[in-house]
Amino acid sequence: MTCVVITGASRGIGRATALLAAERGWSVLVNFRSDEAAAEETASLVRKRGGRPLIWRADVTREDDVRAMFDAAAAEFGPVSAAVVNAGIVAPASTLADMDIARLRRVFDVNVLGSYLCAREAARRIPLSRGGPGGAIVIVSSMAARLGSPFEYVDYAGAKAALDTLTVGLAKELAADGVRVNAVRPGLINTEIHASGGRPDRAQEMGAGSPIGRAGETSEVAEAIIWLLSANASYVTGTIMDIAGGR
Ligand code: NAP
Repeated sequence: MTCVVITGASRGIGRATALLAAERGWSVLVNFRSDEAAAEETASLVRKRGGRPLIWRADVTREDDVRAMFDAAAAEFGPVSAAVVNAGIVAPASTLADMDIARLRRVFDVNVLGSYLCAREAARRIPLSRGGPGGAIVIVSSMAARLGSPFEYVDYAGAKAALDTLTVGLAKELAADGVRVNAVRPGLINTEIHASGGRPDRAQEMGAGSPIGRAGETSEVAEAIIWLLSANASYVTGTIMDIAGGR
């Protein structure tokens, strides 16, 4: 039985991944930081798909929270065999010249340190040599890592580039230890993250100008994440998959 920890699963891409995981019969830890009602909604949708969710509040930037989250998943479901390192934030659109230190710290804290802490916890528990069941990790990067996000979020773009590098290195560390590590780079996906950047319609507006002519849906990203986690991707590791409509 696959037991998957999904960070930032109260809405957006994390929620869609939780629902698809439940459809596959996997046990799902639904992590959130602040919006418990949204996490409850995810859990209710997971149950409707026959899944057994565990809702867990944890701030991925806090080492103790991350450890307790993986402990909780193992206590509820048995050994964790999969992790989706998904929680991430943007800050309001700005040029680098106008970003203050508090914003830069927060963006790097959540997106880089938070993701590294979650990937580290997975790397301490899933590998065969550590008594784990073996499995897979998927890290949620962004097309921003390749495009740079000028005039909007060069901080976020650089943070996501760090996750691409983490994916390549960690995949090599764990490849012979029963753990595959891959990443997805979503493009413009319809979620609430754009509102937090000050432009709720950003995905629809900019998606219309992408080669495929529209924004992506969370389910389209979730399909790739679940495939990368699944045994169908058994020879795939160290890969970073663009899910961006040709952008
Ligand atoms: P979203 O709808 O804003 O959801 C973000 C999730 O992350 C929420 O569940 C939120 O929970 C959680 N979160 C934020 N900070 C957290 C923290 N410190 N600890 C634990 N959870 C935290 O975002 P999304 O669009 O689904 O994005 C998911 C991932 O995809 C992010 O890494 C994002 O960078 C990436 N991505 C998104 C797009 C896009 O166009 N949407 C494109 C490329 C990459 P609470 O609300 O409870 O805090």
